[in-house]
Amino acid sequence: MNDQTKISSALFARGKAVIPGGVNSPVRACLSVGCEPLFISHGDGGRIVSVDGQELIDLVGSWGPLILGHTHAEVLDAVAEAMRSGTSFGAPTELEVRFAEAICAAIPSIDKVRAVSSGTEATMSALRLARGFTGRDKIIKIDGGYHGHADFLLVAAGSGAATLGIPGSGGVTEGIAKDTLLVPFNDLEAVATMVANNPSQIAALIIEPVPGNMGVVVPEPGYLDGLRTICDDAGIVLIFDEVMSGFRVAWGGAQVLYDVRPDMTCLAKIIGGGLPAAAFGGRADIMDKLAPLGPVYQAGTLSGNPLAMAAGLATLDILNRPGTYERLEELSAILAEGLLAAAAVHQIPVMLNRVGSMMTLFFTGDSVRNYDDAKASNSARYGAYFRHMRERGVYLAPSAFEAAFVCLAHTESDIEMICKAAEQSMGLLD
Ligand code: PLP
Repeated sequence: MNDQTKISSALFARGKAVIPGGVNSPVRACLSVGCEPLFISHGDGGRIVSVDGQELIDLVGSWGPLILGHTHAEVLDAVAEAMRSGTSFGAPTELEVRFAEAICAAIPSIDKVRAVSSGTEATMSALRLARGFTGRDKIIKIDGGYHGHADFLLVAAGSGAATLGIPGSGGVTEGIAKDTLLVPFNDLEAVATMVANNPSQIAALIIEPVPGNMGVVVPEPGYLDGLRTICDDAGIVLIFDEVMSGFRVAWGGAQVLYDVRPDMTCLAKIIGGGLPAAAFGGRADIMDKLAPLGPVYQAGTLSGNPLAMAAGLATLDILNRPGTYERLEELSAILAEGLLAAAAVHQIPVMLNRVGSMMTLFFTGDSVRNYDDAKASNSARYGAYFRHMRERGVYLAPSAFEAAFVCLAHTESDIEMICKAAEQSMGLLD
């Protein structure tokens, strides 16, 4: 403990007495990077300030939503305006219609969309719907893919589950896990074999088209197209989980960037602008199987909450202005180059995977094209790097299997400072 962490440490001790592990989501406890978490006092643009008064350049952005940075004036104004009219009604509002219209207009594969409150709800609901639509039980997921914490998706999941080394999770029964089939990312043959071995039994294939939860991994040319063909041939609902990549890697998401149309899409993070909004949507013939039109039940007291809709709409409106993604690309390319240069100075073997403004620096000299490759990287070294960077005012995700996010509030000088901190930190690694 030092002056940079004293108040955080005291709050963590208080928290641990009344919150399991002192945190409301496991990775925040910083266990895998060997330190205690900082407690955050406030954020502004591309920076956050801890309760101990340390200012840090934020490359986490609340795990993705804050593509505009913290406390963006237009987003705050939109939320304040909505709030003055009432915080929740549990009845339809115009904001929900505008939100759905904005998503359908931005993502050509989505005819209809339903709002929920978290990415977990979006993927869980999308898979229930795919099962109801096809009348089949099994699903395929990617080894190391994370789609939230629904029981049947906590099978070989990435993100926090990867960091903590929990292959599934306590409380997930064998009966539930048995319908979740696993294949490695970037391996079309594995998918084809799995489908052939389970004829007419697979309801859906769910995939992060640009995985971020085993760290960022780039889909190889033809991979996503190949999945589309396999799913078409076998009547499988192809679900892109774009909770992280949606409106991050491009306006509309990875499906627009790679020009592949899934049957359904899950969204969260950016579409909520920092408030709890998420959504799942897709082909009208599938979506119309949802209650009240069809037999598949799905509901939520706070679904389409006006404050979350307002924050999401304001964020999308700003993102849709000319030059935003070009600016993100420009800053992200400079950062990637600077990080590689920092590693080169100290001859630290690294592999940097990046799609637009999401990237992961893996501590390995080998390419990372799936979860096995990611796991072979040196996560202890990442822990040390994380701690050195934090001491130098750069806030990274407290896990080797996560993405770093550049936001529109970052500046060239922020990027320069990050690269300088990286060079110093790399020099301190064993
Ligand atoms: N899907 C992906 C790709 C994610 O990255 C996440 C969360 O990080 C989720 C689903 C779950 O979203 P939430 O944490 O909002 O439940």
